[in-house]
Amino acid sequence: ATVLAIETSCDETAVAIVNNRQVCSSIVASQIPVHQQYGGVVPEVASRQHLETINQAIAQALEQAKLDWEKIDGIAATCAPGLVGALLVGLTAAKTLAIIHNKPFLGVHHLEGHIYATYLSEPTIKPPFLSLLVSGGHTSLIYVKDCGRYETLGQTRDDAAGEAFDKVARLLKLGYPGGPMIDKLAQSGNPQAFVLPEGKVSLPGGGYHRYDSSFSGLKTAVQRLVQQFEKNGEQVPVADIAASFQETVARSLTKRAIACALDYDLKIIAVGGGVAANSGLRKHLQATACERNLRVLFPPMKYCTDNAAMIGCTASEHLALGHISPLTLSVQSRLSLTQVMDLYQIG
Ligand code: ATP
Ligand code: MG
Ligand code: FE
Repeated sequence: ATVLAIETSCDETAVAIVNNRQVCSSIVASQIPVHQQYGGVVPEVASRQHLETINQAIAQALEQAKLDWEKIDGIAATCAPGLVGALLVGLTAAKTLAIIHNKPFLGVHHLEGHIYATYLSEPTIKPPFLSLLVSGGHTSLIYVKDCGRYETLGQTRDDAAGEAFDKVARLLKLGYPGGPMIDKLAQSGNPQAFVLPEGKVSLPGGGYHRYDSSFSGLKTAVQRLVQQFEKNGEQVPVADIAASFQETVARSLTKRAIACALDYDLKIIAVGGGVAANSGLRKHLQATACERNLRVLFPPMKYCTDNAAMIGCTASEHLALGHISPLTLSVQSRLSLTQVMDLYQIG
């Protein structure tokens, strides 16, 4: 099916046209420069920016794909989780277009979008597989049983992986968003320069949780390191700290994902979310998976962070199964992946 999809859950106004797993067009209007002056995303500013950009992005997506409405089989938008005001802009636009053009409408769970981003370069993979979801707000290991059927096996107890990158970047005065900046700087640093804590999650009966992660201790360790150099009047070795931090995160995520895949006998690990773009994670996970005879898939770089192509691909999967949302569907700031099927009526 060919779907026009809209994504406005945070600070990207994105519209794409996707034919199953093939991207016909993908427009991403980033608000990063607007939010940079505040050091992070300001919700009210995000909503207003979406409103100002959305119509032009829709027109561009149609123009780039060289398609008219006749060829579109469904219209989708991210409806949860995310910033309520931001989500509302995309969802309202999608519903309006669905009514005007008399097309099926689908609300999409943002994280399901990240899970299926690897489909955009993999024409044949299908569940079951393990999803390592590493984004700005989430760090989860998800058992993907089927489209719409998920079990979360591991998660972070505090900061998400992307959030940790952003916070550490702020400590190193690198600006927002931090992930890409740390990744770039790490190339010129020594990853073995500093030994940083991996952040294990203790179990009540002793030992450690095999799949859960924790990044707040790591962030505090970096903070202490920076303060130590500053106190001694020495220059902070930012590249070495960035490289050591990235190495620690990559090793921690790799260890947990591999353990989980082996325990559940899942042969494929599909990575998704902004941190899937990280070169350290790509290198480590790829190498370790290879040793263990597991396949690891990463989305194309441009579909790691928020985009509408992944939302369109997810909507295509649902539409093929006859899943359609009622026009009364509303946005939700939080929604568990186990509740994805609540978004659809089987039509
Ligand atoms: P969520 O999907 O959980 O709601 P989000 O949509 O804000 O959160 P994404 O757009 O998937 O998150 O990812 C953004 C995050 O990815 C930011 O925290 C950013 O720093 C991080 N990131 C982007 N590129 C890289 C990179 N190369 N290395 C590490 N982190 C990165
Ligand atoms: Mg974003
Ligand atoms: Fe996201």
